Amino acid sequence: MISYEEALTIIFANTEALPKTRQRLEKLLDSVLAEPVVAAMDLPSFDNSAVDGFGVRVADVEKAASGSPVKLSVKGVIRAGDEGQLRVREGTACKILTGAPVPPGVEAVVMKEFCQELNGHVLVAQKARQGDNIRRRGGEFLRGEAVLPSGLRITPPVVGLLANLGYSTFAVHRKPRVAVVTTGNELVKPGRRLLPGKIFDSNSYALKAAVAALGIDDCLTFHAAEDESRTREVLARALASADVVISAGGVSVGDYDFVKGALEQLGVRTLLWKIAIKPGKPVYFGTLVDKLRRRRKCVFGLPGNPVSALVTFNQFVKPALAKMMGISAPGAGSVFMVTLKKTIRKKVGRTEFVRGVLKTENERLVVEATAGQDSHMLGGLSLANVLIHFPSDIEQLSQGEPVLVEFLGWNNF
Ligand code: AMP
Ligand code: MG
Repeated sequence: MISYEEALTIIFANTEALPKTRQRLEKLLDSVLAEPVVAAMDLPSFDNSAVDGFGVRVADVEKAASGSPVKLSVKGVIRAGDEGQLRVREGTACKILTGAPVPPGVEAVVMKEFCQELNGHVLVAQKARQGDNIRRRGGEFLRGEAVLPSGLRITPPVVGLLANLGYSTFAVHRKPRVAVVTTGNELVKPGRRLLPGKIFDSNSYALKAAVAALGIDDCLTFHAAEDESRTREVLARALASADVVISAGGVSVGDYDFVKGALEQLGVRTLLWKIAIKPGKPVYFGTLVDKLRRRRKCVFGLPGNPVSALVTFNQFVKPALAKMMGISAPGAGSVFMVTLKKTIRKKVGRTEFVRGVLKTENERLVVEATAGQDSHMLGGLSLANVLIHFPSDIEQLSQGEPVLVEFLGWNNF
């Protein structure tokens, strides 16, 4: 059986970024920059005040102090959006508001809190140095300067920065279209009547939600009952509609596990099946060449147990989706080391992803495994905010020991 790391390597080697497209600012969130961002102008584009206060000449307020303010004549008010036409000469000041252009002659802005206005004058009770409270033109970026690299995920600040620079559209990679396929005769749609022996379908909802959490809205769901030709037919429809097919269940070694066989009959090339991990050993990954578009579609056969399905989605499907969306170097999530609160044990041979809760205790970060670690127990995964990586060749992680945890945010790559 191949290892977690080997499986990730195979998946990365067989997925590629989708083509570029331009998107409007409003649609950019959660896409990935397909080109570097270059400053189209200086930012800020003019010298402006960082505070509400009074624009002064440094020499005029040299002697200003809290007990002995300096009196200056106020030449006018400049608000954000004004052109800033007036000129401040010796012995004068201007009232200036945050974001307003700094007029000629002003060398510093003294915060309002240190000034007192009275009939056309201001008493300034603090001295200033050149440039105090002034945001300089080009102080953050000069026109033509590299701002952000391509391959970066577009978060709210990135949207804001692009807008700041005057972009109304930007080049991103197309987001993948996804299809989720559930299998099994036991599934009933929540809201319907549960007959004996049946269970409510959770995977189609949970997996669609996991896809949506990454910012991918285009996700259809399909259901294949346990019959070989029907499974094949449904998988064929799913493959026709999507760049990535994620099935859940029917991929193990049971008599009614038709997914792998059906995919192979449809021309999908099996690249891996079964990974030495827990939960989620029977994961399948394959690709289908889409001759029309000269690209490969990816198929993930995840196990049916709800925790296995979601954990393997997080470990394998998410990085693949990240790469297709154009993330330059998708890793195994954001990982860090923290202290283990309570000893955990397992058998050697498989990497385990233990559902954990990270919390602060006595001003220290600690992690503890949740109750309910079985692969059908969604309660533990619902409470978890991290996955503890329990290496394959280790039997015990002891209390007080630093352990590797992966942040489980569902929307992070
Ligand atoms: P399988 O991988 O098909 O053998 O399924 C493993 C376990 O997951 C079985 O107990 C199934 O009943 C359960 N299961 C499969 N699909 C779903 C689903 N969509 N929602 C909830 N449980 C499921
Ligand atoms: Mg099944």
